[in-house]
Amino acid sequence: MTKAIGIVITDHIVAGRLEDEKLVGTLLRYPKDPGEPNILSSIPVCDLVAIFSNFVIALAQKGQAPVDAIGIAVPGIVRHGVVEDAPNLTQLKGIHLKDEVTRGLAAQGINVPVRIANDADSIAAGVAAFRGRLEKLTRVWTIGNGIGYGRWPYVEGIWEGGHITVTLDPKERYCGCGGQGHLESIMGHRAMRLRFLDLEPEEVFENARNGDPRCREFVDLWHRALAAATASFIHLAGPGPFYYTGINVGFLELPLLRTHIESMVKLSPLQSFSLEILPPDDKTAVLGAGVLALQVPNG
Ligand SMILES: [Zn+2]
Repeated sequence: MTKAIGIVITDHIVAGRLEDEKLVGTLLRYPKDPGEPNILSSIPVCDLVAIFSNFVIALAQKGQAPVDAIGIAVPGIVRHGVVEDAPNLTQLKGIHLKDEVTRGLAAQGINVPVRIANDADSIAAGVAAFRGRLEKLTRVWTIGNGIGYGRWPYVEGIWEGGHITVTLDPKERYCGCGGQGHLESIMGHRAMRLRFLDLEPEEVFENARNGDPRCREFVDLWHRALAAATASFIHLAGPGPFYYTGINVGFLELPLLRTHIESMVKLSPLQSFSLEILPPDDKTAVLGAGVLALQVPNG
């Protein structure tokens, strides 16, 4: 039996235990109360590592046999254990998180391989594992403050799908990275607040439903941008299932997205794609972080 621990950082931290690539038991959470404000961005790296270590100790003691791997999913660009960029957790930028956590655990007498992964990749791995389709291509868009793209099976690369260019309009400059015309500059939560200084994103979508022309036009642009990005990945890696999740996935109208993708993908071998909304769920990412650690230990 393989045993692993998955840990995920978003606006909170969750951790869970895997046996034979299935989640067992309940998830641990920091902060414990979901109603508490997001304080993770102000916690120093050494304290984050201490939180991870405490979770690992608590979860490892629940099993008889030692743990084979620990996977930690982080929102950002992650390569070979280094968090190269993490716009929402800036203290992690440039940190060799794999070494930091390995050292922190060793100090507690725990010597287990640690794997750091991108959070969207972890969701893709989790979806593939939950659905028993680990041998197939699975792609996930996460729609929140930033826009994330994840894929399983793991392929080394940057895969910053939220920053692919979906428009040549120089006025589209709201992306958190500063680049023009990016998907996130249209779809990201922060970007929408910058565009509609007088309305919250929820009000924009509500007004669109009530027929407001300016909001309706934007909601259509929002869907066309996601369709363009999805169509680009269909043209690069082929059709197949796409999953959409994240805190703002409630804004997504699948029929409208499908209509726009169909207008962009006309080659008949590419039209067998499917689209599905996944309600945001910590379990999928925790499972995926553990599966990535077990199956791709050196990514
Ligand atoms: Zn960008």
